[in-house]
This record gives sequence, C-alpha cells and structure tokens, in this order.
Amino acid sequence: MNTDIIIIGGGIVGLATALQLKQRNARLRIILVEKEQELAKHQTGNNSGVIHSGIYYKPGSLKATNCINGYNQLVDFCKKNEVPFDLCGKIIVATEEKELPLLQNLFTRGQQNGLTNLKMLTSAELKEFEPHVAGIAGISVPQTGIVDYKNVAEKYAELFRKYDGEIALGEQVIDIQVLSDRVTVSTQKQTYSGKLVINCAGLYSDKVARLTTSTVNVKIIPFRGEYYKLKKEKEYLVKNLIYPVPDPNFPFLGVHFTRMMKGGVEAGPNAVLAFQREGYKKSDINLSELTESLAWPGFRKVAFKYWKTGMGEMYRSFSKAAFTKALQKLIPEIQEHDLEDGGAGVRAQACDRTGGLVDDFMILEEKQVINVCNAPSPAATSSLSIGETISALALKRF
Ligand SMILES: Cc1cc2nc3c(=O)[nH]c(=O)nc-3n(C[C@H](O)[C@H](O)[C@H](O)COP(=O)(O)OP(=O)(O)OC[C@H]3O[C@@H](n4cnc5c(N)ncnc54)[C@H](O)[C@@H]3O)c2cc1C
Repeated sequence: MNTDIIIIGGGIVGLATALQLKQRNARLRIILVEKEQELAKHQTGNNSGVIHSGIYYKPGSLKATNCINGYNQLVDFCKKNEVPFDLCGKIIVATEEKELPLLQNLFTRGQQNGLTNLKMLTSAELKEFEPHVAGIAGISVPQTGIVDYKNVAEKYAELFRKYDGEIALGEQVIDIQVLSDRVTVSTQKQTYSGKLVINCAGLYSDKVARLTTSTVNVKIIPFRGEYYKLKKEKEYLVKNLIYPVPDPNFPFLGVHFTRMMKGGVEAGPNAVLAFQREGYKKSDINLSELTESLAWPGFRKVAFKYWKTGMGEMYRSFSKAAFTKALQKLIPEIQEHDLEDGGAGVRAQACDRTGGLVDDFMILEEKQVINVCNAPSPAATSSLSIGETISALALKRF
C-alpha cells in the first residue's frame, strides 16, 4: 500500500502527531499502525490522568516548553471537543524540614516557567485545601488538572479519521527497509510504502528505531508503577491532588493521591523494574526482555548507584504495609484496609549506556525516519505540543 507518512504507535504521541500533521496539510496520506486491537492500551491508557502545569521541569528544557505549550493546547482542545476535564489544582506537601529548600526551589522554578497564582502554604493553610493532610509547608498549584487520557487519545483519533487519516489496528511492525527514495514498513499482515516513517512506539521505541539504525544509544527500561485505590467510603480523605516534594534524582518517584476524572481516588504509583516491557503484573516475565534490561551497561550502573532506592520501591511493591506507610506521610489517618488494588502502568524510561536516565524528550532524525525515543511524563499533557514539533520536522521533507 502506497502512502506519504507511516506512523507507528497508537498511543497519545502517535495520535497527536497524526492529527497535527493532517491539520497542517490535509492532503498528506497518512496511515497510523498500532499492534493492539485498541488505541491507547499502554502508557496512555494506564497513567495518572494528571494535566501537569510544568512546575517541575528545568526552565528552557524541551519538557518545560512542551509542557506549558501542550497544557494550553490540551485545555483548549478539551473545551472545543467536549472532552471532560477539571482544573482542580494540586498541592505539593513537605513533611520534613530537609524538604523545605527543595520546596522553595520548586516554587522559584514554577515562577520561571511562567505559572501563575502559585502560593506557598503554611501547615494550617494546607489544611484549608486538604483537611486530612499533615505537612509542615506546601505549594498550591492551581493550574494542575485531571483528564482521562484514553478519552483524549480517542478524540484525536476521531478527528484524524475525519481528515481521511487511516488507522490500522492489530498490526505489529516487524521490519522497516529504508530505500533510496522510499521506506517500507512491514507488519505481520502487509507492507506499507511511504516517504517517511515516524516511530512513536513507546515501550518499544528503541527496538523499532534499531530496525533502521545502529546508532541508538539508549535502551528502554520498563518501570512498573503500581496503584492502590481508596475504598469508596474513604474517598472523603482526598479532595483533589496531593503530591510529595519530588526527589531531584528521581522526579518520577514518590507516591501521591490523585482524584480521577472517571471517579475514585488513586494512590501511587511506585516504580519497580518490570520483568517484561508490557508487564502489568508482578508475575509477568519475558526472559529475553528481562535479560536485555539487566545486560544493558547503563541499567547496571543505575542499579549499582541507586540500589537502596530501588530496594525501597521493591519492598513497597511487595508489602502493602510499607506502601501504606509512605502514604501516611501525607495523610496519617490512612490505614492499610482503606486501600484496594488499583492496577498498574508501565513507564518507558530511556537509559543511556553510562547510566543516565534520559530526562528530556528525545527525537532522533534519520533520512526517512523520525524516532521518538523518549516520551516520558508529562508527554500526555504535552502531546499536542510534541505532535506539533514532530510534524514541523516531518513537513520540512514534503
Ligand atoms: C504510571 C504512569 C503514570 C503517568 N502519569 C502521567 C500523568 O499523570 N500525566 C502525563 O502527562 N503523563 C503521565 N505519564 C506519561 C504518559 O502516559 C506517557 O508519557 C505517554 O502516554 C506516552 O505516550 P506514547 O504514545 O509515547 O506511548 P504509548 O501510550 O505507550 O503508545 C505507544 C504505542 O505503540 C504501540 N506499539 C509498540 N510497538 C509497536 C509495533 N512494533 N508496531 C505497532 N505498534 C506498536 C503500542 O502498542 C502502544 O499503543 C504517566 C505514565 C505512566 C506509565
């Protein structure tokens, strides 16, 4: 089948890219290929559902600029297309003296990133926002919100199809051949031929990239994030979103409370090495994928350097009592029996050879291929902005 652009991956990044491309040039023939029978089945469909404001990210980084730009575009998109969302705000809570300088840094960073109406909170003021929280100080971030990203992704897909964009479900890309003027993409069912391939394969983005290039210097290491849910009768303990002060070395660690758009309150996620890239349960193991993770020199360096943090996360994964203890730092009255199983998501974390966990978005351009090799949180919030960036790179070639 002949086309102009083949997009691999029907998560929020692939779909946002597809839509942005069609909105800029409706005549382009685009097909998006997804291995599952449904869209947004992996990271996009199993995340915390938070519309991030951009307070955490280094000013000027791709993450910061895409988050703020993406935030504005996402909120406009949801309003225009009647996707339910709620800008309910969140609080970040310091529970120990040693966190106060980090809290102050976050406040400054938020201001540098252009957030408005941030407010430092005293212990008493925290309780006005969340009566059951115990903290010594905090920040109120009114711009943060919640949305169901599966809904958002499905809306992107609906609009893309309205532009005559095609989506092929249940087709896994197994081979890509770059020829002098074309590129062919083969799935287990058929072969597509186009002028450009855009790889948005999330947890498999490094493997798809390696189909066409040997210069990919990162490996995706899958980290499972496990959640609990508050039992219905305990949901009153959380009004909106309650976050701890993040560890600067591991900004994605630290369990938090999130009111979900579809109802209910989630607690989590933690972060443990998944023994399979799409391993949502502790018992999911793919020996070849696990061996690849363990054999990657960068992963071994991270594991050696941060074994204590990793063991803590593992311990909380196997011990509900330990998980509850982490939550009690924010809300002391939470008890183990207030929590029920809440499912899990798996993060695609790119890790380089030297043990660096790639923090920013990473896009690698080849002759007829654009690889999105790292799209970590807040890529759901930033999806329209990332899609805009990728489509600008793509359109230069047409
Ligand atoms: C636990 C967790 C919590 C998070 N919380 C938030 C949050 O609150 N807010 C936020 O903004 N972000 C959050 N994120 C991050 C966000 O969800 C991801 O950054 C975003 O969803 C990445 O989208 P994606 O399209 O790149 O990946 P995915 O959604 O994983 O999509 C990739 C797609 O590619 C497909 N694919 C893979 N290989 C192939 C192949 N060979 N052929 C065809 N298709 C293929 C997969 O099936 C998949 O559908 C969170 C992530 C996790 C895991």
